Amino acid sequence: MKSIGIMGGTFDPIHIGHLLAAETALDACQLDEVWFIPTNVPPLKEGTQGVDAEKRLRLVRLAIAGEPRFNAHTIELERGGVSYSYDTITVLMEREPDCTFAYIIGSDRIHDLPKWHRIDELAKLIRFIGVERPDEPIELERLPEHLRRRVSVVEMPPMGISSTDIRRRRMSGRSIRYLVSEPVYSEIMKEGLYGPRSDD
Ligand code: ATP
Ligand code: MG
Repeated sequence: MKSIGIMGGTFDPIHIGHLLAAETALDACQLDEVWFIPTNVPPLKEGTQGVDAEKRLRLVRLAIAGEPRFNAHTIELERGGVSYSYDTITVLMEREPDCTFAYIIGSDRIHDLPKWHRIDELAKLIRFIGVERPDEPIELERLPEHLRRRVSVVEMPPMGISSTDIRRRRMSGRSIRYLVSEPVYSEIMKEGLYGPRSDD
């Protein structure tokens, strides 16, 4: 059996917090691979979107190129509509009978697990790997017992980086260099994503 971590997100844009969360989960939980799955329409997320799905996917691919254990999957973008993890996981399990899946999830989302579509069924199929974001401790006692015991928390160096902050920086002309990996930075600046194009 291959052990796969699922890293779902809007990745608008993908930043080094996402990459470090994936690497940390891979290392701590002895995963064979991490699959990055850009969300089409997130069910529980409000606020402005940055760029379209095609560009978000391109940035994901640039960020993970060169790491063979990281892969991008377009299953949610192809399915269209609201992206429910339950739908994604059940399709993946059918397609990949030799794989087990664990969903990597940041501390800003983990306490919302009870609101996820068909969460009780989903939690019987997969485990969750929780990663902490700065100032957002994981409080497992906030989850009902049957979900709590499906979560493993892994420690990662706190990364005070979010896509929201990156979009804001771009809008106000501040630098995002080193908050995203170099190829992602080059693409964002060359194409003028989230803000002005670079002058060169
Ligand atoms: P936004 O600000 O647009 O919500 P984001 O930075 O939160 O963007 P998402 O695409 O929403 O990124 O997150 C995808 C997944 O990665 C989520 O599970 C989220 O909790 C996790 N994640 C994002 N940033 C970090 C970080 N800095 N440290 C740990 N986990 C993170
Ligand atoms: Mg988020």
